[in-house]
Formats: sequence, C-alpha cells, structure tokens
Amino acid sequence: MNRQKHKILIADHNLDLLRKIRNAPVAKQYHFEVAHDGIACLTKIESFLPDLIILDAYLPKIHGIEILRKVKTDPRTKHVGVIFTCFYPLIQFYRPAIALSVDFFLPKPYAISKLFSLCSQFFKGSLHPEPFHLPEELKDGEKSYYISKPRSLSNYLKFWGTRGSHPVSGPQYTHFGGNTTCLEIRNGSEMIIFDAGSGIRPLGNTLRNQMPKEVHLLFSHTHIDHLSGFSFFDPIYDPNCHVHIWAPIGFEKDIKEIFTDMFAYAFFPVKLDEISASLTFRDIQEGVPFQIGSFTITAAYAFHPGSTLCYKIDDGKYKIGYATDNELFFGYHGDPKLITKKSTHYAPYAELVRFFKGVDLLIHEAQYTPTEYRTKVGWGHSSISNTAAFVKHAEVSDWIITHHDPAHDDDALYHKVQLQYDAAEDLQLPCRIRMAFDGLFLPFD
Ligand SMILES: [Zn+2]
Ligand SMILES: [Zn+2]
Repeated sequence: MNRQKHKILIADHNLDLLRKIRNAPVAKQYHFEVAHDGIACLTKIESFLPDLIILDAYLPKIHGIEILRKVKTDPRTKHVGVIFTCFYPLIQFYRPAIALSVDFFLPKPYAISKLFSLCSQFFKGSLHPEPFHLPEELKDGEKSYYISKPRSLSNYLKFWGTRGSHPVSGPQYTHFGGNTTCLEIRNGSEMIIFDAGSGIRPLGNTLRNQMPKEVHLLFSHTHIDHLSGFSFFDPIYDPNCHVHIWAPIGFEKDIKEIFTDMFAYAFFPVKLDEISASLTFRDIQEGVPFQIGSFTITAAYAFHPGSTLCYKIDDGKYKIGYATDNELFFGYHGDPKLITKKSTHYAPYAELVRFFKGVDLLIHEAQYTPTEYRTKVGWGHSSISNTAAFVKHAEVSDWIITHHDPAHDDDALYHKVQLQYDAAEDLQLPCRIRMAFDGLFLPFD
C-alpha cells in the first residue's frame, strides 16, 4: 500500500533552483507544487494544503515575511512547516521569522542535499531553528577581499582655478568654484604650473610644509586673470625657492617689464626686487620644444588678443593639450558639422588641429554658448559648437572644458554641459567631455 506522500510547496521565483530541487533523486519521495510569486503562493496554500513550505524572502508581489505571518497566525495553517530561505541573510529578517515561529532559517545559496535533509528532519519532528549566523563565505572577508591596483598618485593634474576673465564667489558658484585659471601638473616630485590666476594662491598654501626648491610657472599670456594670484603665491616669499617664470616673448613689453610694473607700489606693497625667492624670466619661442625635467613642452599661438600660447605637455607616456584662451573658427555661427577641412573658416586653424592631434587629453575653453558668441566675436574665446568641431577635427577622445565665464553660475554651467553634449551628439563626437571645477584632481599614467 502506498504511503501518502508529504506535500511540499516551493515558493521561489528562481526557476533554475526550482528545476534543481524537482530533479533531485530524493524529490520522488515528496509531492511538490511551486509558486513563483507571493499571490500564487497564498493561492496554492489554500488549494494544495502543503505540509511544508520552502518560502523565499524575496517573492515578487508579497514579501516572504508577510506570507510567513499569514501562515503562522492562521489557525488553519499554523501547523504547516516553513523553511524560510533568503539570499540576503540579515538578522533583521531572522528575528521576525523566529518571532513568527519559523521552522528553519536557511541562507541561500544552499546545497539541494541540505534542503532535503532539513525536509526529512521536519517530517521526523526533529527540525529546530539554529541561532543566527552568517554563512562562512560571507564572513570570510579576510581571505579574498578586493584591493584595486595600487597607485602612487604621483602623476596627476589638479585644477586650482577654472574661471576666466575675473574671479567670482558666492553660493551660486559653489560647484564649479570662482578662482581664475591655474593648473598643476605633477610627475613624481616634478611640478609645473600653468598660469597664476587666483587659483595659484591655494596651491601655494599647500606647498608651505614642503616647499619645493624649484618651481616652474608657465604663462599662456599675461592677461590679468592669469596673473592676479602671483603676488599671493607663497613660494615667491621663500628665499630657498627658485621660481622660473616662462612666458611668450612679449607683446609691447617683455615679461620682466610686465612683472616689474605689476609690483609697483601703486599696486602692491612689495616691489619685484624685494621678493625673497630668486626669479628667472624665460622666453618661450612658439613651435620650439623645450624640456622641464621629464616634461617636453611645445607651444603654439592661440587666437587671442596679445601674444598668447597654447601648450602641449608630454611626459613620455601621456600628452596633454592646454588652451584656456583661444577663439576658434573666428566669426563662425553656423552648424559645426559644416566646418570641414575645405571650408574657409577651417584653413587658419589647420596648423592648430595638427598641433593637438594625438593628445590623450585636451583642456580647452568653450566660454560662450552659440547665442552668446553672436555678440562676442573677436573677444578671444570660443563658442561651444565651434570648439566641439575643433575637437572632432583634432580627433581628441578626452576633453575638459575650463576657463568658465564669470557670468555663468553653476546653473548656467549645468545648462552648458547639456549644450556641449548636444553639440557632441550632432557631430557624432566619440569623446569624453567634462567640465573642470576648482579642485578637479585627475591621476594619469
Ligand atoms: Zn583668460
Ligand atoms: Zn586672455
């Protein structure tokens, strides 16, 4: 005579697990039903009248704890056994399950043989919950924990000032910051600095505890937004520091004359010859590569009033392009897609496209929206759409926008980011685009 088989309802939405349970040889001893969600589970409890439920916590539609509550508080079903399974075995699930008289709390993943052993114990009347414990493999964080590739963080770029024209401050500039242009590039103990806008003051403050013996400061040009932080740059007041000032060959005045004028008593209480650090003024010739430590630097003229340079910096492994003040495709307001190598607007810029081709990262301004540029032709700065076209021709894959207009608060710059993405999409520009902000730190190899 056939003994009546015990009835087990498996309530779980993992179809693969259900298949494994039903295919196990020992499964023939039992009569199974399955439910893939909480509502089906409650319906099957009514129709199938199981002796035991393998109930998962994360059942679609109704959580397993709620089903356990219904089963164990209903006089018609409170005798039904429940093995509660949970992939995410938190004590916060264990405690309510125990309070609701669960028969066993079984963390997932479990061996099918273990499940059937528990079923057998239940039907013999010898199944009791165990104290809560995390599965061994979850506790074992010491043996196999992940550590990312160690980095020395000795090669990096840091933007200390990303504003153009004039510093700004106030709550509306909190995200992007308000200091004018200054960029630090490090290669181990070597440091070069581009431009001495107001952002160079906080950079100088960080050097106080470990003042370098040599500082190389390169100017794109001497407009005041690139110069205004110099007199507050700490290293120039350290007698042990040698500051090399590199700048384009002058425009009306040479670089030393400009600095001498800037340090007149009418402007500042210290004269140039009263500065404690030794200063060396060095001219940069356009197109002639020169070496500062491991950096090879080349300059090209920018399209900007006065004698203004763009730079290419190469440490042997990574090439950076830098152009904070550069008006691209002078007077062009049309569709950037129409700027082709054959168009008349392109020709004057072909040399500069070649100059930046092959850089790993291009730092380039895009100060104006296309609408703003309509009234700013000749001011020496580019529109978003014209810069996007330039980036495409130069085949740059990583572009950081800096030298933000002081009229653009955070909201305006968030809006500009979107315009930038739109222009890139129109041009099918396969390029990562980011907006610089004061403090942006980028390790490079
Ligand atoms: Zn500028
Ligand atoms: Zn300028």
